[in-house]
Amino acid sequence: MHKIIVANYKMNGSKKLYRHILNKLNKLELKDTALILCPPFLYLPFFKISNDAIHLGVQDISNTINKKSTGQISPKMAKEFGAEYSIVGHSERRSLGETDELINQKINVLLSSDMTPILCVGEKSKDENLNIVLKQLKDAIKGIKNHFELIIAYEPVWAIGTGEIPSIAHVNKVAKSLRKFLDKVDVDYKILYGGSISDENYQDMARSEIDGFLIGGISLEVNKFIEIVKGIDNE
Ligand code: PEP
Repeated sequence: MHKIIVANYKMNGSKKLYRHILNKLNKLELKDTALILCPPFLYLPFFKISNDAIHLGVQDISNTINKKSTGQISPKMAKEFGAEYSIVGHSERRSLGETDELINQKINVLLSSDMTPILCVGEKSKDENLNIVLKQLKDAIKGIKNHFELIIAYEPVWAIGTGEIPSIAHVNKVAKSLRKFLDKVDVDYKILYGGSISDENYQDMARSEIDGFLIGGISLEVNKFIEIVKGIDNE
């Protein structure tokens, strides 16, 4: 499996919409692409997957397995409903005060439960120094000793949901610096790009040195999403 496309449904959807989306996605025939669907927690039980190329993830996870954690969901619970992945450190959670320390705890909790983190990193504004992206990655995996698997979604915050996307050179520059660091770590990783990917721009961005996409808004428009998925799978 070479390419990965993550659908982050955020706080969207309904039983009716997800039934419609799954009817279509379950029928997809993919050669070389894995889809990871991340619905809101409540909808996990409705995600009946009958397609080997499709996996389930959640959008966030508890930073602790301590049961005195009102409102939190543990990896054990998410796994019981089929989730193998969790997004961690999405900018919409960082903006609520999620720190690099919390993100590091969440990654440790996930890895000790055999779930794969999908770590989101990205600069907030266009003029911010790109070293911040590497620092977010280093802080997130600090102290991890054993071999692990990680999916990184490089998501410039200024590109999320705005319709603006960075240049391929910009994405390649960030991906190169992340790879240079990760190649010295005992980790199997993939680097995705996320931020305003649509059926109109995905082909351009697919020319950059990334392993796939994290898609928010357009993942809810299933026909456009399928067009992107098929396009990537056929490359
Ligand atoms: C996201 O939620 O991380 C995201 C990339 O959203 P969008 O595709 O809508 O920009």
